[in-house]
Amino acid sequence: MNTSNGVVAFGRETICYEVQFLTTRRTLGIEVHPNLQVLVRAPTACDPAIITVKVQQRASWISKQLAAFQRFSPRTPPRQFISGETHLYLGRQHRLKVSEGAVSSVKLTRGQLLVSTRGKTQPKQVKTILQRWYRERAREIFAQVLDDCFLPFAQRGHARPRLAVKNMHTRWGSLSSSEVITLNSNLIRAPKGCIEYVVVHELCHLEHRNHGPQFYRLLEQLMPDWLKRKRKLEEALL
Ligand SMILES: [Zn+2]
Repeated sequence: MNTSNGVVAFGRETICYEVQFLTTRRTLGIEVHPNLQVLVRAPTACDPAIITVKVQQRASWISKQLAAFQRFSPRTPPRQFISGETHLYLGRQHRLKVSEGAVSSVKLTRGQLLVSTRGKTQPKQVKTILQRWYRERAREIFAQVLDDCFLPFAQRGHARPRLAVKNMHTRWGSLSSSEVITLNSNLIRAPKGCIEYVVVHELCHLEHRNHGPQFYRLLEQLMPDWLKRKRKLEEALL
């Protein structure tokens, strides 16, 4: 089966869609799935430009569907910071094991997150220790990812942006006009491939400030599977 990807802008939103070209299909159909996938089923001979126009015409409906699925998707229950519950780190669930120790520490071994607290263990204390550990890991890993992903941009003559790590509620990353790349500290819970997607997306803004066709051409060129990574990120951290 022949497939392709497309993007349309709707107000400040970006709608990414996948097209499946089917020999059995005579009309064009647009579906929005609960995993936030927008799927267009089209006849094999359908002109991609016509598909873009059709998606644009239905953008308001697609946006409403996506918002509804986002609202009703099961969210991770609030963490209690007690032994036995799971915590995400680089896309994997790790079982938390809390114990008393001589010093406060966090260790990651064989799928377990071992947290030692000085004195009696209390969830509040575990939370503080764990959050500090997550922040440290985020800073280290994001810096590595930025170094790796920056290589093609260095070749294109750009200066490496400075990295800031922040807890943000509405976005995964941003690039300021003063060339600071800010990444959401929660990204440390996502698979590394997803962190790379966010970094490459933001780095593409060094060249194109908006999300126009040139921006997506560069993103596609540097990371052909960006849409897959984007979807994985949305699914991983909903
Ligand atoms: Zn952007």
